[in-house]
Amino acid sequence: MLIDGSGLERQPRWRRGHEQEVGVEAARDRLASGQLPPLCRVAAATAEMEGPGLGSQCRNHSHGPHPPGFGRHEVCAHENKELAKAREALPLIEDSSNCDIVKATQYGIFERCKELVEAGYDVRQPDKENVSLLHWAAINNRLDLVKFYISKGAVVDQLGGDLNSTPLHWAIRQGHLPMVILLLQYGADPTLIDGEGFSSIHLAVLFQHMPIIAYLISKGQSVNMTDVNGQTPLMLSAHKVLGPEPTGFLLKFNPSLNVVDKIHQNTPLHWAVAAGNVNAIDKLLEAGASLDIRNVKGETPLDMAQQNKNRLIIHMLKAEAKMRANKNFRLWRWLQKCELFLLLMLSVITMWAVGYILDFNSDSWLLKGFLLIVLFFLTSLFPRFLVGYKNLMYLPTVFLLGSVFWIFVTWFILFVPNLAGTTFYFVFILSIVAFLYFFYKTWATDPGFTKASEEERKMNIITLAETGSLDFRTFCTSCLIRKPLRSVHCHVCNSCVARYDQHCLWTGRCIGFGNHHYYIFFLFFLSIVCDWIIYESFIYWSNHCVTTFKEDGLWTYLNQIVACSPWVVYIFMLTSFHFSWSTFLLLNQLFQIAFLGLTSHERTSLLKQSRHMKQTLSLRRTPYNLGFTQNLADFFQCGCFGLVKPCAVDWTSQYTMVFHPAKEKVLRSV
Ligand SMILES: [Zn+2]
Ligand SMILES: [Zn+2]
Repeated sequence: MLIDGSGLERQPRWRRGHEQEVGVEAARDRLASGQLPPLCRVAAATAEMEGPGLGSQCRNHSHGPHPPGFGRHEVCAHENKELAKAREALPLIEDSSNCDIVKATQYGIFERCKELVEAGYDVRQPDKENVSLLHWAAINNRLDLVKFYISKGAVVDQLGGDLNSTPLHWAIRQGHLPMVILLLQYGADPTLIDGEGFSSIHLAVLFQHMPIIAYLISKGQSVNMTDVNGQTPLMLSAHKVLGPEPTGFLLKFNPSLNVVDKIHQNTPLHWAVAAGNVNAIDKLLEAGASLDIRNVKGETPLDMAQQNKNRLIIHMLKAEAKMRANKNFRLWRWLQKCELFLLLMLSVITMWAVGYILDFNSDSWLLKGFLLIVLFFLTSLFPRFLVGYKNLMYLPTVFLLGSVFWIFVTWFILFVPNLAGTTFYFVFILSIVAFLYFFYKTWATDPGFTKASEEERKMNIITLAETGSLDFRTFCTSCLIRKPLRSVHCHVCNSCVARYDQHCLWTGRCIGFGNHHYYIFFLFFLSIVCDWIIYESFIYWSNHCVTTFKEDGLWTYLNQIVACSPWVVYIFMLTSFHFSWSTFLLLNQLFQIAFLGLTSHERTSLLKQSRHMKQTLSLRRTPYNLGFTQNLADFFQCGCFGLVKPCAVDWTSQYTMVFHPAKEKVLRSV
């Protein structure tokens, strides 16, 4: 078994270390126990309540100095209790003139700090615990005090505390992005290594502060920066932070997957295996991490997993190795390319076989049932062995296309001879061509995927962070972009989609701003095609089966038409199924578009929200609802011969409220 040479010593000793004791929490303890000078108690309490100190960390979850794996929320709850106790113990009126500069800095009492500095206090002078004033200001996110101390000559990269860290290291451990930005603006060096051997980016990874990781990398910090042991942030994340993040987050910045550290010569995958970090292993394998690199002991990741006897990891590594080996075969590569086509063929053949068994010249439905079970068993084997997991999501799509194929064949062979005139013939052909055209357009048109180059993303992160708008509610951590208004990240397509409606099961594609109108026509023409077939099935039965519903009653009529042609009943049932869902979706979509002005996703979200609200929420009173005609005109971009003026909003790049010229309404995010 691989033993981590660095082991626990590499864990941040933040909670155990001396720095924490002399930090804000220690000061708060002293506050609670009455050790602080009287005025400091008032100021401290005020700062706690108003300032961006620890109290605000709990409120905005900016994450305290806890090593990965600690329950942060629990810690926050604990801190709140302490804080409440401290507040109860406070006297009402006190004098702040006795407060020393360290306490005044910790609690952000700017006037007192200024008074002491102007009275001759050297801002470079560390306290008795070798911590500078800049450290205390940084850890408590006191931006104005940092500016003041630096203007008075404080050294921005001053080393201090037991861990020999810079103020930047302290700010990163606490997750204070504004402080990190400020210190970097004053020239703080993010490449400096602290007493534990970590650079700034390593600390951000260990404490899982994603905005800081994104900002440091965007400002030019190498994602492959090594710590004192030669470990990259990716190795550290795979080894120390269980779970998919921040490993997945780091992988978006294209780090080196196969570099090795200095001591053990382990790759990030070795480290993930050593820690049993299944999520990180999954992410690394998906990114293409090598399975063959050997560490200093000559072990591959699989050897390590076998030594650790972790069955799940052994299975994951072996399955990946097998899949990669298969890619070397030409036949396999060809099959991979044709997977979708093969799936479609499988669907067409299976549907024919089902119809054939039903139509089989035998009165024994027991035999037919048995044959159907055998057929389903055989067909389920095919996708399992020949089709990749990801392509299985196209099963509903190939089922729909297979159905339409047999509907068309049945119509051509069995129904065309019954047609009274050529008009019906051409209308049906036109409907099916229009259906295929709009299916293709829905499939092939970009629904509104957000696109940005790596440089654009980095610039975006810097701009958002420095303007204080790096808000992870509007910033997509998967695409590393600011999400446009009404866009949603689709986890199937792994991209944000502008004016997202849904990821459609039947087309296998996202429905968004770019293809939503094609989708409506796709549903419309599918319903029309199904309509025709249902109508023509009844015509067929009246011509070919010696029974009528009126004369024989329902039961005899049903028995007779099944006996007459089981295949037609089979096609009729398939058609009825597709007719039901397509008509339901079409009516639902038209209602949402015309009467609500909302997408399916927005409507569902609003309905979910309304469950938690006391008052009933009106879906019609949203900023996107501009009235029946205007909603339709905007959606289809159609002026109806000059009757309405459609408003063209590009939802792929709309981030803020929109002024609508037609209705003079202001749109807001729902
Ligand atoms: Zn996204
Ligand atoms: Zn999607």
